[in-house]
Amino acid sequence: NREIRLAARPAAKAGPEHFALVETAVPEPADGQVLVRNTWMSADPYMRLLMNADAEAVLPPYQVGEPLFGSAVGEVVASRSPEVPVGATVTHFLGWREYAVLDAAEATVVDTGLAPAQAYLSALGTTGLTAWAALTEVVPVREGDVVFVSAAAGAVGSVAGQIARRLGAARVIGSAGGPDKTKKLVHDLGYDAALDYRKGDLAGQLAEAAPDGIDLYVDNVGGDHLEAAIEAMRTGARAVLIGAISGYDAAVPGPRNLDKIVQRRLTLRGMQVSDHFDRFPEYIAQAAGWLADGSLRTEETVLEGIANAPAALLGLLTGSNTGKMLVKL
Ligand code: NDP
Repeated sequence: NREIRLAARPAAKAGPEHFALVETAVPEPADGQVLVRNTWMSADPYMRLLMNADAEAVLPPYQVGEPLFGSAVGEVVASRSPEVPVGATVTHFLGWREYAVLDAAEATVVDTGLAPAQAYLSALGTTGLTAWAALTEVVPVREGDVVFVSAAAGAVGSVAGQIARRLGAARVIGSAGGPDKTKKLVHDLGYDAALDYRKGDLAGQLAEAAPDGIDLYVDNVGGDHLEAAIEAMRTGARAVLIGAISGYDAAVPGPRNLDKIVQRRLTLRGMQVSDHFDRFPEYIAQAAGWLADGSLRTEETVLEGIANAPAALLGLLTGSNTGKMLVKL
């Protein structure tokens, strides 16, 4: 059994030196527990925040010398619980290791007849639910909205654009880094227009794509993207603040145009997906149908082997992923 531990806390930019790959014994399940062989692990931006001692997050920070944790899916290979038998495929929160022992109550059995196991870490998992909850509950899409999504080719963003359209948006604009991703946004992921923020002048690009402004902004990036979006927001427009990845490795300046919030009566609302976990069954039932009928297109970037888990996490911060970043074990 191998696991990834936090070797040191990054002072600024995280790198491979902050992780250690360590060999340990395969753990034994006690009464009421199961042993899971992890088959897929999720790499998520919040993990970068948990590497900091002062992470203000729903989850406790990672500890130096201790294994990391995060979403994973795997197969039960030993069970001392009647509820979760050997052979079941389960999602749980003890990723970053090849084998995990956990209480049966912490494992959720998933139906691999409905979708492949790794879908429960992406479109049918937390990132899919984040997009859906953001646009149905936190800041519901209204018929005819012009919607702008940042990190639009990522896991949350690629689903958010398609869900916005499904909920009645008139025009959906996405931003991403580089020409390959912006092409994909329009050709494969249902966006009407795509902005390449690496070209610069994001505010100018957005004004061109949405000459009458935007009604709803889905913020995954923060910083310069939030500033450009505020500039484009119409009177009464709304934004859902999901994340601010541009500031995870280093502090970035905040928007300089917050005065527009007052002048234009804007609403900016933050969210945490964990507040919406009760909607997982409802969401999975719907989204599995969309995947099956092809109306929800998804992308995955897959790195192989536990040794590549740090690279998967670091890659999110440089945009090496399109769609959901996954590690296949
Ligand atoms: P993604 O799959 O979107 O991966 C991150 C992407 O961010 C990269 O692919 C990269 O795309 C982009 N990015 C990285 N650095 C920058 C930068 N400096 N400026 C602009 N874009 C950048 O990750 P997720 O879909 O998992 O997460 C997206 C956001 O949602 C994150 O902020 C995350 O923290 C947040 N989140 C919040 C949740 C909540 O409950 N509040 C739940 C889940 C996610 P590119 O190549 O286009 O730059």
